[in-house]
Amino acid sequence: MEIGNIYKGQVIDFTHEGNGVIKYDGFPIFVEDVVIGDFIEFKLVEKKKSFGIGVVSRIIVQSTDRVEYSFDTSTLGGGVPLINYKYDKQLEWKEKKVKQDLLRIGGIDVEVSKIIGMKSPFRYRNHSQIPVGEKDGKVVIGYYKAKSNDIIPIDEDYLQPEIADRIIDTVKAWVIEYDIQVYNREKELGVIKHLGIRTNENNEAMLILVTAFSKIPYKYELIHKLVKECPGVVSIYQNINQEKGKFTYGREYVHLFGQEQLRDYIGDLQFDISPDSFFQVNRLQTRVLYEIAKSFLEGKTDDVVFDIYSGIGTISLFIAKDVKKVIGIESVKSAVENAKSNSKKNNIDNVEFYLGKAEIVFPKLIGENKANKVIVDPPRKGCEREVLDAIIELSPERIVYVSCNPSTLARDIKILDRSGYEVTKVQPVDMFPHSAHCEVVCKLIRL
Ligand code: SAH
Repeated sequence: MEIGNIYKGQVIDFTHEGNGVIKYDGFPIFVEDVVIGDFIEFKLVEKKKSFGIGVVSRIIVQSTDRVEYSFDTSTLGGGVPLINYKYDKQLEWKEKKVKQDLLRIGGIDVEVSKIIGMKSPFRYRNHSQIPVGEKDGKVVIGYYKAKSNDIIPIDEDYLQPEIADRIIDTVKAWVIEYDIQVYNREKELGVIKHLGIRTNENNEAMLILVTAFSKIPYKYELIHKLVKECPGVVSIYQNINQEKGKFTYGREYVHLFGQEQLRDYIGDLQFDISPDSFFQVNRLQTRVLYEIAKSFLEGKTDDVVFDIYSGIGTISLFIAKDVKKVIGIESVKSAVENAKSNSKKNNIDNVEFYLGKAEIVFPKLIGENKANKVIVDPPRKGCEREVLDAIIELSPERIVYVSCNPSTLARDIKILDRSGYEVTKVQPVDMFPHSAHCEVVCKLIRL
């Protein structure tokens, strides 16, 4: 194959990023914006040792599993690469991937339960960061195109509740009416950079206006307009971010209007969310995930449980009532502070949270705490080897592994499997419909 030439092929799989995979004479080519089953014409743009990159020039025969919507799906940005693949097929693909990763990477042949998807896989996000910029002299508010700084103007954001659409429209109208300078990413000029929108169960919203400078011209006009035209907006903040880097939010927040925190719920638990707090993005599926983790844990009144990678303490609090004590470990200071205040707010007093890296803190804690059960919920890179070794040393009767990355899950449970644990249940949950991500909960029992 030669770079620049045109080839034809059928998409047979997705990569873990959600790009289409074509095998051309057995050589894998990755192509964006296609779905499994499409027969396409593509141009080879890059060739590495073990794979190539293609750009689709024409879909010759569309996949029968394609789905078209009444809106332009590209406006939802690069985060939802599977959007044009039927939702039930997406679920099937995710479930199969979990099974394959466990087998290929972990060498574990275990029954994988049917993935739990969403009844309605749209408007599920409760936090989005939407870039504001200009294109051809016009204001644009919308998501970035995949791997690019190009903003695709959004009409309706089908990933967030409707109130987000009204906020976007209102801010846009204010920008135009008062001729506010939006941020130009090439020239690094202008004021308004992003809109952070957080929403809760009751369809109330917090708006975080990310600006390049501290002064916002016609600020009170904006607040007035938002209050009048978007009745659910209960809180407005400004975030000042003078950096050009990849982070949306800078360090400084200024409270402009209404409540300082947005209250949300997962099951019976209540959480007061500050503009900088971490909170699970899909509230409905988070509850589903936690219920499964809880049922796999089978908490008893004399259980002492470690919750490693505890974040703001949500899983700890969710299981606390069933057990004697929960010990959380988390490396982000503000998350531990949140976890502590969340436990107070929910009148839960049998939880403790330790700040520090799990690989350092956890091995030190196992001597003094005779815990009999462990939950781990690590970031995408999985558990550090020291954490797995300390679990094996502690030798709990049961481990519940919550994972957002089936490949590192497989790698880690292979180690536990070889050290005397048996994987007895594997339950995938779709937390991010239309993305290539998949959450999994595993139950491991000491033999
Ligand atoms: N269990 C929580 C959070 C899971 S996300 C929930 O359900 O909401 C993973 C968490 O691990 C994040 O909060 C992240 O800050 C934390 N983390 C990442 N690396 C860590 C490490 N080495 N030690 C401890 N915590 C870590």
